Amino acid sequence: MSRVFNFSAGPAILPEAVLAQAQAEMLDWQGCGMSVLEMSHREQHFASIAAQAEADLRELLGIPSNYKVLFLQGGAYSQFSMIPMNLLRGKTRMDYVDTGDWSSKAIDEARRYGDVNVVASSIAGNYTSIPDPATWQCDPNAAYLHYTPNETIRGVEFGFVPDAGDVPLVADFSSTILSRPIDVSRFGLIYAGAQKNIGPAGLTIVIVREDLLGQTVPCTPVMFDYKVQADNGSMYNTPPTYAWYLAGLVFKWLKAQGGLSVMAAINERKANKLYAAIDASDFYHCPVDLTYRSWMNIPFTLAKPALDKAFAAEAEQAGLVSLKGHRSVGGMRASIYNAMPEAGVDALIHFMQDFAQRNG
Ligand SMILES: *Cc1c(COP(=O)(O)O)cnc(C)c1O
Repeated sequence: MSRVFNFSAGPAILPEAVLAQAQAEMLDWQGCGMSVLEMSHREQHFASIAAQAEADLRELLGIPSNYKVLFLQGGAYSQFSMIPMNLLRGKTRMDYVDTGDWSSKAIDEARRYGDVNVVASSIAGNYTSIPDPATWQCDPNAAYLHYTPNETIRGVEFGFVPDAGDVPLVADFSSTILSRPIDVSRFGLIYAGAQKNIGPAGLTIVIVREDLLGQTVPCTPVMFDYKVQADNGSMYNTPPTYAWYLAGLVFKWLKAQGGLSVMAAINERKANKLYAAIDASDFYHCPVDLTYRSWMNIPFTLAKPALDKAFAAEAEQAGLVSLKGHRSVGGMRASIYNAMPEAGVDALIHFMQDFAQRNG
Protein backbone atom coordinates (compact mmCIF):
# COMPACT_ATOMS: atom_id res chain seq x y z
CA MET A 1 0.00 0.00 0.00
CA SER A 2 1.27 3.45 -0.79
CA ARG A 3 -0.49 6.52 0.53
CA VAL A 4 -0.23 9.91 -1.16
CA PHE A 5 0.09 13.32 0.46
CA ASN A 6 -3.41 14.70 -0.03
CA PHE A 7 -3.66 18.51 -0.15
CA SER A 8 -7.43 18.57 -0.75
CA ALA A 9 -9.39 21.41 0.89
CA GLY A 10 -12.13 18.99 1.98
CA PRO A 11 -13.03 16.25 2.43
CA ALA A 12 -9.41 16.15 3.41
CA ILE A 13 -6.54 14.12 4.76
CA LEU A 14 -7.09 12.22 8.02
CA PRO A 15 -4.40 10.97 10.41
CA GLU A 16 -3.22 7.58 9.19
CA ALA A 17 -3.27 6.24 12.76
CA VAL A 18 -6.97 7.11 12.98
CA LEU A 19 -7.77 5.31 9.73
CA ALA A 20 -5.80 2.29 10.90
CA GLN A 21 -7.70 2.18 14.19
CA ALA A 22 -11.03 2.49 12.39
CA GLN A 23 -9.95 -0.36 10.11
CA ALA A 24 -8.93 -2.54 13.05
CA GLU A 25 -12.31 -1.89 14.75
CA MET A 26 -14.40 -2.08 11.59
CA LEU A 27 -15.91 -5.53 12.06
CA ASP A 28 -15.91 -5.69 15.84
CA TRP A 29 -15.83 -2.55 17.95
CA GLN A 30 -14.03 -3.31 21.22
CA GLY A 31 -15.34 -6.86 21.49
CA CYS A 32 -19.02 -6.01 21.14
CA GLY A 33 -19.31 -8.16 18.00
CA MET A 34 -20.47 -5.45 15.61
CA SER A 35 -19.26 -2.47 13.65
CA VAL A 36 -19.92 1.09 14.81
CA LEU A 37 -21.72 1.38 11.46
CA GLU A 38 -24.30 -1.13 12.70
CA MET A 39 -24.97 0.25 16.18
CA SER A 40 -28.19 1.75 17.38
CA HIS A 41 -27.65 5.31 18.51
CA ARG A 42 -30.03 4.57 21.40
CA GLU A 43 -27.90 1.85 22.98
CA GLN A 44 -24.97 1.86 25.39
CA HIS A 45 -22.08 1.29 22.98
CA PHE A 46 -22.79 4.29 20.84
CA ALA A 47 -23.77 6.35 23.88
CA SER A 48 -20.28 5.82 25.28
CA ILE A 49 -18.63 6.68 21.92
CA ALA A 50 -20.69 9.89 21.68
CA ALA A 51 -20.05 10.97 25.26
CA GLN A 52 -16.30 10.29 25.02
CA ALA A 53 -16.00 12.32 21.79
CA GLU A 54 -17.75 15.27 23.40
CA ALA A 55 -15.63 15.05 26.56
CA ASP A 56 -12.42 14.96 24.52
CA LEU A 57 -13.48 17.92 22.37
CA ARG A 58 -14.39 19.88 25.51
CA GLU A 59 -10.98 19.13 26.94
CA LEU A 60 -9.08 20.05 23.74
CA LEU A 61 -10.83 23.40 23.32
CA GLY A 62 -11.40 24.13 27.01
CA ILE A 63 -15.14 24.55 26.39
CA PRO A 64 -16.83 26.15 29.44
CA SER A 65 -19.75 24.28 31.06
CA ASN A 66 -22.32 26.89 30.00
CA TYR A 67 -21.79 25.92 26.35
CA LYS A 68 -23.59 23.09 24.53
CA VAL A 69 -21.76 20.98 21.96
CA LEU A 70 -23.98 19.75 19.12
CA PHE A 71 -23.14 17.01 16.60
CA LEU A 72 -25.36 17.83 13.61
CA GLN A 73 -25.77 17.14 9.90
CA GLY A 74 -26.29 19.56 7.04
CA GLY A 75 -22.77 20.97 6.74
CA ALA A 76 -21.54 24.44 7.59
CA TYR A 77 -23.86 25.67 4.87
CA SER A 78 -26.97 24.75 6.91
CA GLN A 79 -25.57 26.87 9.72
CA PHE A 80 -25.80 29.89 7.42
CA SER A 81 -29.60 29.54 7.92
CA MET A 82 -29.74 28.04 11.42
CA ILE A 83 -27.76 30.93 12.90
CA PRO A 84 -30.22 33.71 11.98
CA MET A 85 -33.20 31.43 12.75
CA ASN A 86 -31.94 30.81 16.28
CA LEU A 87 -29.97 33.91 17.19
CA LEU A 88 -32.12 36.80 15.93
CA ARG A 89 -34.10 36.50 19.20
CA GLY A 90 -36.64 39.20 18.34
CA LYS A 91 -34.09 41.51 16.76
CA THR A 92 -34.02 42.40 13.06
CA ARG A 93 -30.41 43.33 12.37
CA MET A 94 -27.29 41.17 12.09
CA ASP A 95 -23.68 42.27 11.59
CA TYR A 96 -21.42 40.37 9.15
CA VAL A 97 -17.78 40.84 8.17
CA ASP A 98 -17.16 40.05 4.49
CA THR A 99 -13.68 38.62 3.98
CA GLY A 100 -14.21 36.11 1.18
CA ASP A 101 -16.28 33.52 -0.60
CA TRP A 102 -17.61 31.79 2.51
CA SER A 103 -18.51 34.90 4.48
CA SER A 104 -20.32 36.29 1.45
CA LYS A 105 -22.32 33.06 1.10
CA ALA A 106 -23.24 33.32 4.80
CA ILE A 107 -24.35 36.92 4.17
CA ASP A 108 -26.53 35.96 1.18
CA GLU A 109 -28.35 33.35 3.23
CA ALA A 110 -28.80 35.58 6.31
CA ARG A 111 -30.49 38.23 4.13
CA ARG A 112 -33.51 35.91 3.93
CA TYR A 113 -34.11 36.40 7.66
CA GLY A 114 -33.51 40.09 8.37
CA ASP A 115 -31.36 43.14 7.70
CA VAL A 116 -27.73 42.26 7.20
CA ASN A 117 -25.28 45.02 8.00
CA VAL A 118 -21.95 44.32 6.30
CA VAL A 119 -19.63 46.01 8.80
CA ALA A 120 -16.60 45.82 6.48
CA SER A 121 -15.54 44.08 3.28
CA SER A 122 -12.23 43.24 1.67
CA ILE A 123 -13.76 42.53 -1.76
CA ALA A 124 -12.17 45.65 -3.28
CA GLY A 125 -8.74 44.08 -2.68
CA ASN A 126 -9.91 40.77 -4.15
CA TYR A 127 -10.21 39.30 -0.64
CA THR A 128 -6.48 39.15 0.00
CA SER A 129 -6.63 40.92 3.37
CA ILE A 130 -8.81 41.66 6.39
CA PRO A 131 -10.28 45.12 6.98
CA ASP A 132 -8.84 46.84 10.07
CA PRO A 133 -11.34 46.25 12.92
CA ALA A 134 -11.02 49.94 13.86
CA THR A 135 -12.93 50.72 10.64
CA TRP A 136 -15.77 48.21 11.14
CA GLN A 137 -19.22 49.84 11.25
CA CYS A 138 -20.72 47.63 13.97
CA ASP A 139 -24.27 48.05 15.29
CA PRO A 140 -24.44 47.79 19.10
CA ASN A 141 -28.02 46.52 18.71
CA ALA A 142 -27.17 43.77 16.25
CA ALA A 143 -28.39 40.29 17.18
CA TYR A 144 -24.83 39.02 16.61
CA LEU A 145 -21.59 39.66 14.73
CA HIS A 146 -20.59 36.92 12.26
CA TYR A 147 -17.14 36.40 10.78
CA THR A 148 -15.12 33.68 9.07
CA PRO A 149 -11.82 33.11 10.93
CA ASN A 150 -10.30 31.28 7.96
CA GLU A 151 -11.39 31.76 4.36
CA THR A 152 -10.67 28.34 2.91
CA ILE A 153 -10.69 29.35 -0.77
CA ARG A 154 -8.40 32.39 -0.72
CA GLY A 155 -6.33 31.45 2.32
CA VAL A 156 -6.99 34.49 4.51
CA GLU A 157 -6.98 33.91 8.26
CA PHE A 158 -7.70 36.13 11.27
CA GLY A 159 -4.79 35.86 13.68
CA PHE A 160 -6.98 37.47 16.34
CA VAL A 161 -10.50 37.29 17.76
CA PRO A 162 -12.48 40.46 17.03
CA ASP A 163 -13.95 42.37 19.96
CA ALA A 164 -17.73 42.34 19.64
CA GLY A 165 -18.49 43.98 22.99
CA ASP A 166 -21.77 42.64 24.36
CA VAL A 167 -22.94 41.44 20.95
CA PRO A 168 -22.60 37.63 20.62
CA LEU A 169 -19.70 36.74 18.34
CA VAL A 170 -20.44 33.97 15.81
CA ALA A 171 -17.66 32.29 13.85
CA ASP A 172 -17.39 29.82 10.97
CA PHE A 173 -14.37 27.78 12.04
CA SER A 174 -14.87 25.10 9.35
CA SER A 175 -11.30 25.08 8.06
CA THR A 176 -9.36 26.16 11.14
CA ILE A 177 -11.00 24.62 14.21
CA LEU A 178 -8.50 22.65 16.33
CA SER A 179 -5.50 24.12 14.48
CA ARG A 180 -4.58 26.23 17.55
CA PRO A 181 -6.07 27.01 20.97
CA ILE A 182 -8.98 29.47 21.12
CA ASP A 183 -10.77 31.12 24.02
CA VAL A 184 -14.29 29.74 23.54
CA SER A 185 -15.70 32.12 26.17
CA ARG A 186 -15.18 34.99 23.71
CA PHE A 187 -17.83 33.50 21.40
CA GLY A 188 -21.59 33.16 21.37
CA LEU A 189 -21.41 30.40 18.79
CA ILE A 190 -18.72 28.48 16.91
CA TYR A 191 -19.50 26.13 14.03
CA ALA A 192 -17.50 23.89 11.73
CA GLY A 193 -18.19 21.31 9.05
CA ALA A 194 -16.10 18.28 10.01
CA GLN A 195 -14.57 17.42 6.64
CA LYS A 196 -11.72 19.95 6.74
CA ASN A 197 -9.92 19.70 10.06
CA ILE A 198 -12.00 17.28 12.16
CA GLY A 199 -13.06 14.12 10.39
CA PRO A 200 -15.30 12.82 7.63
CA ALA A 201 -18.02 14.71 5.76
CA GLY A 202 -21.54 14.43 7.14
CA LEU A 203 -20.92 15.89 10.59
CA THR A 204 -21.17 19.53 11.63
CA ILE A 205 -20.13 20.68 15.07
CA VAL A 206 -21.80 23.62 16.82
CA ILE A 207 -20.61 25.04 20.15
CA VAL A 208 -23.17 27.48 21.50
CA ARG A 209 -23.66 29.45 24.71
CA GLU A 210 -26.74 28.19 26.54
CA ASP A 211 -28.40 31.55 27.13
CA LEU A 212 -28.74 32.07 23.36
CA LEU A 213 -31.03 29.05 22.93
CA GLY A 214 -34.80 28.78 22.80
CA GLN A 215 -35.94 31.86 20.88
CA THR A 216 -36.20 30.70 17.28
CA VAL A 217 -38.03 32.59 14.54
CA PRO A 218 -41.55 31.27 13.72
CA CYS A 219 -41.67 28.21 11.46
CA THR A 220 -38.12 27.12 12.32
CA PRO A 221 -37.96 23.42 11.38
CA VAL A 222 -37.63 21.31 14.50
CA MET A 223 -34.31 19.88 13.25
CA PHE A 224 -32.96 23.43 12.93
CA ASP A 225 -33.74 24.40 16.53
CA TYR A 226 -30.51 24.33 18.57
CA LYS A 227 -32.48 23.95 21.81
CA VAL A 228 -34.25 20.83 20.57
CA GLN A 229 -30.89 19.40 19.49
CA ALA A 230 -29.26 20.34 22.80
CA ASP A 231 -32.12 18.95 24.91
CA ASN A 232 -31.87 15.66 23.01
CA GLY A 233 -28.10 15.24 23.03
CA SER A 234 -28.03 15.76 19.23
CA MET A 235 -30.17 12.62 18.93
CA TYR A 236 -33.61 14.04 18.21
CA ASN A 237 -33.34 11.92 15.09
CA THR A 238 -30.55 9.57 13.96
CA PRO A 239 -27.23 11.41 14.17
CA PRO A 240 -24.29 10.78 11.77
CA THR A 241 -22.99 8.00 14.01
CA TYR A 242 -19.91 6.84 12.10
CA ALA A 243 -18.68 10.39 11.42
CA TRP A 244 -19.17 11.15 15.13
CA TYR A 245 -17.10 8.07 16.07
CA LEU A 246 -14.33 9.00 13.62
CA ALA A 247 -14.24 12.58 14.89
CA GLY A 248 -13.83 11.08 18.36
CA LEU A 249 -10.80 9.10 17.18
CA VAL A 250 -9.32 12.33 15.76
CA PHE A 251 -9.88 14.09 19.12
CA LYS A 252 -8.02 11.24 20.89
CA TRP A 253 -5.22 11.52 18.31
CA LEU A 254 -4.94 15.28 18.90
CA LYS A 255 -4.71 14.69 22.65
CA ALA A 256 -1.97 12.12 22.05
CA GLN A 257 -0.01 14.67 19.97
CA GLY A 258 0.00 16.95 23.01
CA GLY A 259 -3.12 19.06 22.40
CA LEU A 260 -3.72 22.27 20.53
CA SER A 261 -0.67 24.28 21.64
CA VAL A 262 1.55 21.58 20.21
CA MET A 263 -0.55 21.44 17.02
CA ALA A 264 -0.33 25.24 16.71
CA ALA A 265 3.47 25.17 16.83
CA ILE A 266 3.58 22.42 14.18
CA ASN A 267 1.01 24.18 11.98
CA GLU A 268 2.84 27.50 12.18
CA ARG A 269 6.12 25.82 11.26
CA LYS A 270 4.57 23.91 8.33
CA ALA A 271 2.90 27.03 6.94
CA ASN A 272 5.92 29.28 7.40
CA LYS A 273 8.26 27.00 5.53
CA LEU A 274 5.86 26.74 2.59
CA TYR A 275 5.35 30.53 2.47
CA ALA A 276 9.11 31.02 2.73
CA ALA A 277 9.67 28.72 -0.26
CA ILE A 278 7.01 30.60 -2.27
CA ASP A 279 8.38 34.04 -1.36
CA ALA A 280 11.98 33.02 -2.07
CA SER A 281 11.12 32.17 -5.66
CA ASP A 282 10.24 34.33 -8.68
CA PHE A 283 8.35 31.39 -10.09
CA TYR A 284 5.64 31.20 -7.38
CA HIS A 285 3.50 33.93 -5.89
CA CYS A 286 1.06 34.10 -2.97
CA PRO A 287 -1.27 37.10 -3.25
CA VAL A 288 -2.35 37.14 0.42
CA ASP A 289 -1.36 40.02 2.75
CA LEU A 290 1.57 38.81 4.89
CA THR A 291 -0.29 39.53 8.13
CA TYR A 292 -3.33 37.43 7.30
CA ARG A 293 -1.89 34.37 5.61
CA SER A 294 -3.65 31.15 6.56
CA TRP A 295 -1.89 28.31 8.34
CA MET A 296 -4.31 25.86 6.78
CA ASN A 297 -4.97 26.80 3.13
CA ILE A 298 -2.11 28.20 1.08
CA PRO A 299 -2.98 29.51 -2.39
CA PHE A 300 -0.23 30.24 -4.87
CA THR A 301 0.12 30.97 -8.57
CA LEU A 302 2.77 30.05 -11.11
CA ALA A 303 4.59 32.75 -13.07
CA LYS A 304 3.40 30.97 -16.21
CA PRO A 305 -0.28 29.94 -15.74
CA ALA A 306 0.06 27.84 -18.91
CA LEU A 307 2.10 25.46 -16.75
CA ASP A 308 -0.70 24.93 -14.16
CA LYS A 309 -1.86 21.68 -15.76
CA ALA A 310 1.68 20.27 -16.01
CA PHE A 311 2.39 21.27 -12.40
CA ALA A 312 -0.70 19.49 -11.10
CA ALA A 313 -0.09 16.40 -13.22
CA GLU A 314 3.59 16.05 -12.31
CA ALA A 315 2.83 16.69 -8.64
CA GLU A 316 0.30 13.88 -8.74
CA GLN A 317 2.93 11.59 -10.28
CA ALA A 318 5.13 12.49 -7.32
CA GLY A 319 2.37 11.50 -4.86
CA LEU A 320 1.25 15.07 -4.08
CA VAL A 321 -2.45 15.24 -4.96
CA SER A 322 -5.36 17.72 -5.10
CA LEU A 323 -3.25 20.86 -5.44
CA LYS A 324 -5.46 22.53 -8.03
CA GLY A 325 -6.84 25.86 -6.74
CA HIS A 326 -10.57 26.43 -6.24
CA ARG A 327 -12.41 26.72 -9.56
CA SER A 328 -13.29 30.34 -8.77
CA VAL A 329 -9.68 31.52 -8.35
CA GLY A 330 -7.44 29.15 -10.35
CA GLY A 331 -3.76 28.59 -9.60
CA MET A 332 -2.85 26.14 -6.87
CA ARG A 333 -3.86 25.66 -3.25
CA ALA A 334 -2.18 23.47 -0.68
CA SER A 335 -4.43 22.64 2.26
CA ILE A 336 -2.20 21.55 5.12
CA TYR A 337 -4.56 20.67 7.95
CA ASN A 338 -3.58 19.07 11.27
CA ALA A 339 -3.37 15.64 9.66
CA MET A 340 -0.84 16.68 6.99
CA PRO A 341 2.55 15.45 8.21
CA GLU A 342 5.44 17.88 8.03
CA ALA A 343 7.07 15.41 5.62
CA GLY A 344 4.22 16.15 3.18
CA VAL A 345 5.01 19.86 3.25
CA ASP A 346 8.72 19.12 2.81
CA ALA A 347 7.95 16.89 -0.17
CA LEU A 348 5.80 19.62 -1.73
CA ILE A 349 8.52 22.26 -1.29
CA HIS A 350 11.08 19.93 -2.82
CA PHE A 351 8.81 19.25 -5.79
CA MET A 352 8.07 22.97 -6.27
CA GLN A 353 11.76 23.86 -6.31
CA ASP A 354 12.52 21.12 -8.78
CA PHE A 355 9.61 22.08 -11.04
CA ALA A 356 10.65 25.75 -11.03
CA GLN A 357 14.20 24.83 -11.91
CA ARG A 358 13.06 22.74 -14.86
CA ASN A 359 10.50 25.28 -16.13
CA GLY A 360 11.65 28.68 -14.90
C1 LIG B 1 -16.18 24.18 3.36
C2 LIG B 1 -16.68 25.41 4.05
C3 LIG B 1 -18.05 25.68 4.19
C4 LIG B 1 -19.13 24.81 3.60
O1 LIG B 1 -19.13 23.59 4.25
P1 LIG B 1 -20.20 22.44 3.95
O2 LIG B 1 -19.94 21.52 5.08
O3 LIG B 1 -19.87 21.89 2.61
O4 LIG B 1 -21.56 23.03 4.00
C5 LIG B 1 -18.43 26.83 4.87
N1 LIG B 1 -17.51 27.64 5.41
C6 LIG B 1 -16.18 27.41 5.30
C7 LIG B 1 -15.21 28.37 5.92
C8 LIG B 1 -15.73 26.29 4.61
O5 LIG B 1 -14.41 26.05 4.51
